[in-house]
Amino acid sequence: MSAQQFLKVIEEKQIEWVDFRFVDLSGRAHHISLPAKEVDEETFVNGVAFDGSSIPGFRGIEESDMVMMPDPTSFFVDPFTAHPTINILCDIYTPDGERYERDPRSIAVRAEEYLKQSGVGTTAFFAPESEFFIFDDVRHESSMNRSYYEVNSEEAGWNTGREEEGGNLGFKVRVKGGYVPVGPTDKQQDIRSEMCRLLEEAGLRIERHHHEVATAGQAEINFRFDTLLKTADNLMVYKYIVQNTAQQYGKTATFMPKPLFGDNGSGMHVHQSIFDGDTPLFYEKGGYANLSEMALHYIGGILHHAPALIAFTNPSTNSFKRLVPGYEAPVNLVYSKGNRSAAVRIPVAAVTPKGCRVEFRTPDSTANPYLAFSAMLLAGLDGIKNKIDPNEKGYGPYDKNIYELSDAEKKDIRSVPGSLDEALDALLADTDFLTEGGVFTQEFINNFVELKRGESKAVNMRVHPHEIGLYFDL
Ligand code: GLN
Ligand code: MG
Ligand code: MG
Ligand code: MG
Repeated sequence: MSAQQFLKVIEEKQIEWVDFRFVDLSGRAHHISLPAKEVDEETFVNGVAFDGSSIPGFRGIEESDMVMMPDPTSFFVDPFTAHPTINILCDIYTPDGERYERDPRSIAVRAEEYLKQSGVGTTAFFAPESEFFIFDDVRHESSMNRSYYEVNSEEAGWNTGREEEGGNLGFKVRVKGGYVPVGPTDKQQDIRSEMCRLLEEAGLRIERHHHEVATAGQAEINFRFDTLLKTADNLMVYKYIVQNTAQQYGKTATFMPKPLFGDNGSGMHVHQSIFDGDTPLFYEKGGYANLSEMALHYIGGILHHAPALIAFTNPSTNSFKRLVPGYEAPVNLVYSKGNRSAAVRIPVAAVTPKGCRVEFRTPDSTANPYLAFSAMLLAGLDGIKNKIDPNEKGYGPYDKNIYELSDAEKKDIRSVPGSLDEALDALLADTDFLTEGGVFTQEFINNFVELKRGESKAVNMRVHPHEIGLYFDL
């Protein structure tokens, strides 16, 4: 797609507003709208100005002028606006015409270039499974104050709904009982189908949708894999459409990793593979799960750097409430085929040579996809470059349920960091694989850590409802 083609779409579809968007460090999209008649080829040369000082982690107030440069390969007609509007994703530039080095998209571009230069292959493909909850759009559903009673009833395995205003109003799906039952238990068939229709219209290719394991409206929609940058762009479209469709149904959708204590959280497993032209490089018949040596080393790199990597794939305080045993979220830094308690899984059902891939199950959707996909690729490439053999390192393969191993059997298995602060410490201690080829800079990493430390401090300072239960009567 070129600028001319984009302008033609504006004309053909009688678009009134062009919505210019960029993504901040946390992965939030921001937008400024211009009347369509003011947008022409010049706009693609000069860009659209905005104030970088109001975006957390971007520029200081003394050097605040920034420019959005629209990318005509990434746009879609907004299905939610009353006035015909087209959304276009932008790269961020400084007023001197340089690419802004904190623009997450610029990092994704550099990661893709680095792969090509490395000689390993030409293209890395990514496919995220970004889970989310659909809640009624009222506050008490959000579980922020789930009662102490419910915490204890978790053992019984039933969501009693006791905290519901007006008493328990009817049958509730069991805790962890939501995996693919048909209606009327699944009440969200239509809303998910509508999300998928709009996603297809926006250019994503939908593969499936289903209810997820958690009791209360947990959902998953899968769209087709693509290159690193394109998949990150697609994920931004995905979240926008999921959240706004929910809004239109009077619901609210959240990608927060662990909104409900005592039930499954929402992950964003990321499938990844490397190709050389049309040739898949991760497949070799006969090896463990038909993996090539290159794929094994990629896994070695991911697992070796996982503690640092997780600062980008799970960058919220809430992320670490999901990464606990018993909820299909990984805790152990090992790999396995099939086994969903391992951080890296190799899907083996219905897999062709081209579909042969590595699934990293740790990430969640609070990740900025540009940063997380780039960091994963760099960890994997480092594993390939340094021939990090996961078997020699004791990273697997483990085909048992790791949650159920004895302490003696588990003693050499490394775990994910226990908190955002631990992950940030691990990141500061292991940055060389990220700064390789100048993809991330040390300055970028330091700034990211500072931003995230602020979130962690803000959460830690606050009184938690559970503290009241533990200490109030002492
Ligand atoms: N929700 C689980 C997680 O947190 C995954 C469940 C699944 O997809 N099998 O990762
Ligand atoms: Mg899935
Ligand atoms: Mg899932
Ligand atoms: Mg999965």
